[in-house]
Amino acid sequence: MSVQSLLILGNPVLRQKCRKVESFDGEGLRHLVDDLRDTLQDFRARHGFGRGIAAPQIGISQRVVFINVDRPMPLVNPKIVRRSRKLMSLWDDCFSLPNLLAKVRRNLAIEVQYRDLDGKRHHLHAEGALSELLQHEIDHLDGVLTIDRAIDSKHVVFKDEWEKWEKGEKVRL
Ligand SMILES: [Zn+2]
Repeated sequence: MSVQSLLILGNPVLRQKCRKVESFDGEGLRHLVDDLRDTLQDFRARHGFGRGIAAPQIGISQRVVFINVDRPMPLVNPKIVRRSRKLMSLWDDCFSLPNLLAKVRRNLAIEVQYRDLDGKRHHLHAEGALSELLQHEIDHLDGVLTIDRAIDSKHVVFKDEWEKWEKGEKVRL
C-alpha cells in the first residue's frame, strides 16, 4: 500500500492491452487496488482534481480501474456492454498527459459489467460524468489515450494556454 509514480505518455506500458485478472485469491489484487486508491488520493490532494485511475498508469498491465466519484469503487475486468447512440463532447484530461487537454466525444450513457474484489459480477448503468469517466479509464486498459480520441488534431491543446482563451467552458475535473 503506497503511492506509486504515474507513468506518462511515452512509456510503452500505457500502450499495452492489459491482461484480465484471473485470480481473486491471494493478496495481489488487493495490494494493487490499495496502490491505486493511495495514488489517486495523493494526486487529488496535490492537484485538487482526479476522479479515476487505471492500473497501467502505475505500471501494472492488468484490467483494473479505481474511481472515486461519490464513493471509492474498484472495478475488475470492466467491460462496456452497451453504449447510447447519443454522444457528448468534452475537454478531457489525464494524469498521464500532464497539462494536455483533448476534446473528445463519448457516449452519453453506457452499461458496464465488472467484478468486485471477491470476483462477484456486477452490472452498472452510468450516465453523464460517470459515463465519460468510465470510458476514459476503460480505454486505458486497451492502451487508448485521450489524444487518440480527439475530435481532430486541432483539439489537442495545452491546458494552461486553453484556460487563457476558453475560460468558462467546462473542463473535466
Ligand atoms: Zn487517464
